[in-house]
This record gives sequence, structure tokens and C-alpha cells, in this order.
Amino acid sequence: MALGRARLEQPSRYLVDERPLAEGEVEEELERLRRAILAAREELQDLRDKLHGTMAREVAEFIDAHSLMLADRELTAGIYDLIRKGRYRASAALQMQRDRLVAVFEAMDDPYLRSRKEDIEHVIARVQAGLVRESSREERRLAARVGEILISDTVAPSELVPLAERGVLGVVLTSGSQVSHSAILARSLRLPMVVAAHEALAQIQDDDLVLIDGEHGEVVVHPAAPDIARYRAWQRENAQKGKRLALLREADTRTRDGVAIALHANAESTEDVAQARALGAAGVGLYRTEFLFLQRKELPGEEEQFLAYRDLVLGMGGLPVTIRTLDLGADKADASGLVLDDEENPALGVRGVRLSLRRPQLLSMQLRAILRAASYGPVRILVPMVCAAEEMVAVRRMLAECARDLRSAGYEIPWQVELGAMIEVPAAAIALTGMIRALDFVAIGTNDLVQYTLAVDRNNDQLANLYDPLHPAVLKLIAHTIAVAQRARRRVTLCGEMAGDRRYTALLLALGLTDLSMHPGVLLEVREEINALDFGALRAHARTLLRAPTRERIGRTLDKLRRA
Ligand code: PEP
Ligand code: MG
Repeated sequence: MALGRARLEQPSRYLVDERPLAEGEVEEELERLRRAILAAREELQDLRDKLHGTMAREVAEFIDAHSLMLADRELTAGIYDLIRKGRYRASAALQMQRDRLVAVFEAMDDPYLRSRKEDIEHVIARVQAGLVRESSREERRLAARVGEILISDTVAPSELVPLAERGVLGVVLTSGSQVSHSAILARSLRLPMVVAAHEALAQIQDDDLVLIDGEHGEVVVHPAAPDIARYRAWQRENAQKGKRLALLREADTRTRDGVAIALHANAESTEDVAQARALGAAGVGLYRTEFLFLQRKELPGEEEQFLAYRDLVLGMGGLPVTIRTLDLGADKADASGLVLDDEENPALGVRGVRLSLRRPQLLSMQLRAILRAASYGPVRILVPMVCAAEEMVAVRRMLAECARDLRSAGYEIPWQVELGAMIEVPAAAIALTGMIRALDFVAIGTNDLVQYTLAVDRNNDQLANLYDPLHPAVLKLIAHTIAVAQRARRRVTLCGEMAGDRRYTALLLALGLTDLSMHPGVLLEVREEINALDFGALRAHARTLLRAPTRERIGRTLDKLRRA
């Protein structure tokens, strides 16, 4: 949350000069554009040189991405062409190229890629600023005084750190999404930000007092006494929370009645691995390998995959690591053409293990890489989107073949590597009893389980209120999965976003889970929550929770349990 005076940053209206160029003006206009692009690149370089502190590396990546765009011939050649052949003035050419590229990004299905249009807008705006020799927006923004909340249409990631350093308390944007680079960075900087507040620029005036709540996406203009009281209470709690959590780095994760709960990390990057270790994670519970495959034209070969997996295993220093086989498809499309792009229903299409089994060479390359990495530390293999035992039998057969081939080629690989399935399709949960013998362990993927159980696209903003992990049907499937796995003495973990949300921790323990995997950034909060819960008391309420007919009733029972 943040409370401060509003400082409005109206979208800069660059003068787009629509008059066509005369023949003799073309060269000069091209030169103006060249100078503006150069100025924009220098500005970015200056910004980069001034970076310091913990976030410097991340911010530098954003700045580099923008510099690369400015150096990208495809982006700039189009603009030069519009001037040369279309006789547009530089400002109009920039505007046209911006509109074209933004339209391409807007048509993308992946919300992350869609949000990349913001990068195009920031880069073009920077060149426009140079073109009209205005002081750049950034300079004006940096003049913002301490105690202000910036209200703007958009903000570039590279502007966020200087803004935070100058004492800006929070940011409200009329556009943007929660997965934009700016939002990701704001979260790391702990700078409160509210996105998609469409009316903010129209309804807020300069110097209005505003209270913003980034967690709930709320902006209160002229907050009344109860709002201010809520803010002050939040402030006090937040300060205490930071101190409290720091003490938990070395602590055990154990309920009040002494039950040990294993908290694993979902890790994608080396930073995640380092953080997982620093916070005392029990291991890596989910390594999503598709991130090695996204946004590249060439598939990573066995050697490249092996090195990535080996470094992950080494990074965890002997703690167990669960590597998931490729889960491409649906919203995770690749650039290499592996994923079919003409499916009418990609979420119900060739994704996860379905894709792997159709491309046996791809699967065997990945299994070989994982097996080789497994000689450096404990590794488990997890298979996504499983619906039937036959799929697991086929993967296990291929795993055995890979192991045999590697051994005959002289590799020393472990004799036993556990093979488990993600339970994220309702069919797999319902029919788990018949499938459990084919599994060494079970991981519940609630992100997909919720979407497939409720027929609600997990990426569709409009259905956000229907995407409900507390729906009685979802809880019954989770409870059934845990019960079947435990009866068959298989370890069962939950690695969807639910695991990292402390509002659900009591519920998950009540259902019998003692193993969770989550983003390392929330591990201490969940540890703190667990240390305050009573496992026995929660288990005694499992039936009540499962019999509750509505989400409201479940919510009320949970609140009571958490307070008990
Ligand atoms: C899940 O579905 O819950 C999960 C952990 O996997 P992903 O989010 O990668 O689909
Ligand atoms: Mg999933």
C-alpha cells in the first residue's frame, strides 16, 4: 500500500506531423530520425551507467532489451522506408510503425507476450521525445517530489528504479498487466503499483490525496478516516512482518504440534535456486523445463539440457530436485514450431506428455539429459498433463531404454530414478487408484486442476472470479488425490500457486498435505503460517471442509481454523 499526493503524468502527445515530405526533404528527415535514435540509445546507456544496488542487474536487462530494439534493423528499417518511400515525416513514420507492431503483439494469445507491446511503446516514445527535442518524460518524472504517487498511462521498467530512488511512493497506471516487465520489476522493488486503472487519469487531479493497494488493485481518492486507519494498520504490520520473517530463515518448518512440513521451491532461474537454498527450502519441488525451450528457434540439445539440469542439481547441494519433462503447449508456445499452432482448443490439445509421446526423440533426449544430471545429486522426474496409466508406462519404458543406452555408453547413472505424475487433469485425480501403481510419487498441479475442473481458462481476466481454488469440486479432487497417494504410500506434494498462498495453507494441511512447493519469494511467509497451525486440529476438520456446500462456508470454516 502507499498513501501520497497524486502527480499526474498525462500521456505525452507528440506532435505527429502528417504533411507529406517534399522530395528534397527526405534526406534531412532521415538524418533527424537517425539523430533521435542515437540520442535515445545514449540516454539508455546513461541510465545503465548510473545503475547500482541490488536491482542493477535486472534493470540493466530491461535497458539492454530496449537498446537492442533500437539497434534492430527490422524495427528501424521499416521506419526509414516509410520516410524514404512513403514520404512520411519521422514522427508519423514512428507512429505508424508503433501501431503496426502493437497490433501484432495484441493479437498474441500468450498474455506475457501480449504485454510486450509496452516495450515497443516505450522505445518509440523515447525516440519521439528525442525527435521533438522535448525534455524526455523521464526527466519530468524524476522531478517528482518525495511523497508522490505517479499516475500515468504507462511507465518503462528502466524508469522505475530512479523513480523509487527519488522517493516516489507508488505508481498507478491506466494500462498494463500484472505480467508486464514493469509490474514484475515493481514487485521486486516492493514499489506498490496498480495496473489497468482505466479511469485514473480522468478522475484524479494533481495533488489529490490517494491511497493505493497493489495487492488488491485498489485506488482510493480522498481516503476517509477508516481508509487511513486501514493504511496505518497495514504499515505497522508490514514493518513487523519484515523483521519477523528474517528470523525464520534458519527455522524449521513445523506445526505447533510438532509435525514437520517440507517446503520445496519452484525454481526456474539460478536466482531462484540461490534463494531457495538461502531460505532453507527442502529441495526443488518443480523445475519447469519448458523455459529452456521458449522463445528460441533451435531446440536445446541433450548437452545443453544436461548442463542446465546439472547446474540446478549442483546448485541445490545434495537436496532433492524434481525436474518436470516438457510442458509445452496451451499458453506456453515455443518458437521452434514444436507446438501445433492450428489447434482450435490448445488447452485441450497436444500439450505436456501428449506432445512428448508424439515426439519420442525429443522425450528421449530430455530423459537422457536428466539421467546424466542425476549422477550429481538426487533427482526425480515429473510428467505433466497425465490422464492415463498407459502414458506413464510409455514414459517409464523410454526411461529404462535411455538408462540402458547410457550405461552401455559408459555413463554412471543411478539405478533408480523416481518417476511421478502431475495430477492436474480431473480424470487423473478421479481415476488415480487405477494409476497409482504406475507412479513413484504424485504432484498436484492446482493451476491446471482448477482450470480443467471448472472449465475456466486460467489466463482469462474476465473469468477471474470463477477461477476458484476453493470450489468444493476442486477440494474433493485434491483430497481424493492425497488420500489415494497416501494409502499407496506414495509421496504427494502440491506445486500450484495455491501452495504459496498462505490463505490456503491451513486448508492444505487439513487435507493431509505435508509437502508443498512454491515460489521461493513466499517460502518464509508460508513457513510462518505453518509454525502457527495445529496439524491435528486441522485434520479433525477435514470432513467439515469437504462437506461444506459452498465456497463461502469453506472460507468461514478456514478463517475459524486459522484463528484457533
Ligand atoms: C500447475 O498446473 O499447477 C503447475 C504447477 O504447472 P504449470 O503452472 O506450469 O502449468
Ligand atoms: Mg500445469
